[in-house]
Amino acid sequence: MTIGWHFDNSYSKLSKTFKEDIKPTPVHDPELIILNQELAKNLNLNFSGIDKKKLAEIFSGNSLPDGTNSIAQAYAGHQFGHFTMLGDGRAVLLGEHLVNKNQRFDIQFKGSGRTSFSRGGDGRAALGPMLREYIISEAINALKIPTTRSLAVVKTGEKVVRENLLNGAILTRVASSHIRVGTFQYIAATQNTEDLNTLVDYTIDRHYPEIKSSKNKALDLLSLVMEKQCQLVINWMRVGFIHGVMNTDNMAISGETIDYGPCAFMDQYDPKTVFSSIDKFGRYAFSNQPPITKWNLARFAECLIPLIDKDEGTAIKIATGLIDNFQNIYEEKWLNMMRDKLGLFGEDKNDQTLINKLLEWMKNNSADYTNTFCHLMDGEIDDEIYKNDDFKGWTNEWQKRIKLNNSSDKHLELMKKTNPLVIPRNQKVEEALADADKGNLETMNKLLKVLSNPYSDQENIIEFQKPAPISNEKYQTFCGT
Ligand code: AMP
Ligand code: MG
Repeated sequence: MTIGWHFDNSYSKLSKTFKEDIKPTPVHDPELIILNQELAKNLNLNFSGIDKKKLAEIFSGNSLPDGTNSIAQAYAGHQFGHFTMLGDGRAVLLGEHLVNKNQRFDIQFKGSGRTSFSRGGDGRAALGPMLREYIISEAINALKIPTTRSLAVVKTGEKVVRENLLNGAILTRVASSHIRVGTFQYIAATQNTEDLNTLVDYTIDRHYPEIKSSKNKALDLLSLVMEKQCQLVINWMRVGFIHGVMNTDNMAISGETIDYGPCAFMDQYDPKTVFSSIDKFGRYAFSNQPPITKWNLARFAECLIPLIDKDEGTAIKIATGLIDNFQNIYEEKWLNMMRDKLGLFGEDKNDQTLINKLLEWMKNNSADYTNTFCHLMDGEIDDEIYKNDDFKGWTNEWQKRIKLNNSSDKHLELMKKTNPLVIPRNQKVEEALADADKGNLETMNKLLKVLSNPYSDQENIIEFQKPAPISNEKYQTFCGT
């Protein structure tokens, strides 16, 4: 019986500058914690006749599939605004697995040992953060937001040293590629135009073949990546997702959400919400995500300047013109997304005011972002807060606006497609991770099941819809390093 791997490793064929050839460091006593059967099926992989011990060998990297040619990828990045040369310091790319000969997916191990990019790190990852990435990335996928996926997590049987001794783990990540803004920054920093052209061509070939024969490939690439990133951040804003570390090395050129670290979903609506313990100044706060996307895109544009026009001044002018338009594109998309959340068809001149009034009310009353829209959909989520006079006044205005739709019975359908009933609530994620660390996987599996269907009514989901009890202690997330 074969699993069905079909590796074709185009990235590993690029020149030395782009990567280091390296194998995962074997681990002591791997144990399979979770395998994503549904994703395996989508990838035409069949793990059914394989026992758990063998699966653990496979997903720890102790036994590599035929056809892999593993590498650590080089990249750089602006981390909290500061430029650093980075690279896969605790990950290796096994290669690209082909599905039906034309769909290409990176298969990467995260937590697989030291590489030449590890700097002071141990190259390893802990079980909690790897399962956290598994849970949240799968939830984001179910929310119909582009993202890397999680195929498996194994415990390594080794401890990693952080503030405490933790269980070591390896995550198998699946991505349409791991090319980041930071990959371009790395190559741009070497000032080798040939390599830069190679990277542009490679990226276009893999992600944007429609511009293969365009006159100004670099400029068109910039424009397409901007569109993708804009759509991505709109989606995050739609569901209340806060990425937490939007460094340029954590921004994928494919437009997928990548590198789940201290990410979390907002409960009470507050644009300034930050969960990450290291984000002291709120650089990556909820409402800062759109301007940071633009900032990151400007760093991407800088890399492409030598290819946009022979004359540097002209190139800068063209790129700046494009990036400056981000705000306009974003605002229009955001308004339409909020219209969808409220079931509003067409456009009315007061829409922006109506939407802003609701957000302001939510902020002033600490209303839950997800549940407020659930309440508006069918009133099933109820709370004293929605008996508030201001809210009732706003609801009347909203209902008048819905009457302008001319298809009033359709508004609920639109809202149900746009507003999730469940999101990964912070306390539920923490509970699942704590139990998994003690060897009990039932809590996590239950949570994953509910999160796999966020737009449908499911039995007994009320427990998963509750925000965390308000306490004096602010919820904090930590980087998984
Ligand atoms: P991240 O915070 O996961 O986006 O990682 C930022 C950079 O730090 C990347 O270059 C990682 O490869 C590197 N890194 C993170 N954790 C470790 C670790 N435990 N050992 C070595 N490198 C690491
Ligand atoms: Mg990263």
